[in-house]
Order: sequence, then structure tokens, then C-alpha cells
Amino acid sequence: MTDALTCDIVRNWICKTAEVMAENRAYLTELDSAIGDADHGNNMDRGYKAVIEKLPDGDDVGALLKAVSMALISKVGGAAGPLYGTMFLQASKPLMGKSEIGFDELAQFFDDAVAGVKMRGKADVGMKTMLDALVPAAEAFRAAGSVSDGLEAAVVAAEKGMKDTIPMIATKGRASYLGERSRDHQDPGATSSYLIIKALRDAASEAA
Ligand code: ADP
Ligand code: MG
Repeated sequence: MTDALTCDIVRNWICKTAEVMAENRAYLTELDSAIGDADHGNNMDRGYKAVIEKLPDGDDVGALLKAVSMALISKVGGAAGPLYGTMFLQASKPLMGKSEIGFDELAQFFDDAVAGVKMRGKADVGMKTMLDALVPAAEAFRAAGSVSDGLEAAVVAAEKGMKDTIPMIATKGRASYLGERSRDHQDPGATSSYLIIKALRDAASEAA
């Protein structure tokens, strides 16, 4: 696997994420029907379809990620659009004008992504949200010390974090209205976060 993410890899990540959201539309919606309003798969699929239409040409990683943010904010209703939109907006800022990003920049990207979601959603780990996948992934990435090891570690950590949401009682978002009844279900947003991180690993490993 590569140790720097080029613009082509980032573009491929975004395209792969769009494919994965289309493939998992029914699954994400099914998860959201258990503890939410059965729209998360539709939201993410619609959002990423809009992302693909709006992707700019050129060799600027930050501009690509900012375009993801703008499309998600404008096309996805509900909680996930503004949350993922803010996540990509915050994380894109230090990458504007860069044609390639290495370990330090990607570690910062993960940290900024987490900070963006925390800021927008006023949530933290343990509340049964996307942060339960994103925070362990960001920590695992930084601890691994290289892009290739970091992305493998981030996927493992995000998957564990996603599964760890199953026994949790939601205290943020729509699922929190259910209280106790939100237990024993996997959080849809933690699941889409895992899929996004896995798509990044897959795009990077293809570029080996
Ligand atoms: P909505 O809940 O408005 O229908 P979605 O179904 O698209 O929006 O997204 C639901 C997901 O959003 C949840 O599974 C959860 O992971 C995430 N979420 C909701 N509220 C928050 C929050 N305050 N902070 C972080 N993530 C949140
Ligand atoms: Mg929903």
C-alpha cells in the first residue's frame, strides 16, 4: 500500500464511497428503521451521488474534500448531512492546495474530522453515534505511525467501534428518543463511518 495519498487516490476513495453507499443503501436504512426514521441509507446514497456530480477537476486534495462537504450539506437532510458535511469541511482546510498528503497530514485529517463532528453534533464517544467509529479510527491511525499500517488499523478500530455501539443506549440524535429501546441495535451512522474509512483503505491499497 502507498505511503502518500495522491489526488487520484482521494478521488478514487470518493468514488468507491459512492459505490459502497449505493450497495449498502438498504442495509443502512434497515439499521435506521430499528432506532431512527429509516432514511440513513437513502440520505448517504443521495448525498454521495450528488458528490460525484460536483467533483472538481484538478490536483487539489483539499478542494476535492471541500466539494464532498458542500454536496453533502446541500443534498442530505437529517443529521448525517450537516455532520459529515462539517466533518469534511473542517478536515479539508489544512489540505487546500495540496496535491498529495502523507502520514502527518492524514493523521491531522482524522483528528480534524472528529473535531468537526464533535463540534457540530455536541456529542462524544459512548453516545451511540458515528463518533464511536470515527474516534477509535483516528486514534488507531495516529498510533500506527505510517499511512499503510494506519489505514489498516483504522479499519479494524472503526469496525470494532461500530459493533461496540450495539449494546449502547443512545444519548444523542433521533435514537436517543427511544432510551432503553435503542439498545441491541447497531448505530447506522457508526456503520456509514466504518464504510467510509474502509473505502479509503481500499482506495489506498489498490494504489500500492
Ligand atoms: P436523522 O437522524 O436526522 O434521520 P440520519 O438517519 O441520516 O439522520 O443519521 C443518523 C445518524 O447520525 C445516527 O445513526 C448517528 O450516528 C448520527 N448522529 C445523530 N446525531 C448525532 C450527533 N449529535 N453527533 C454525532 N452523530 C450523530
Ligand atoms: Mg434517520
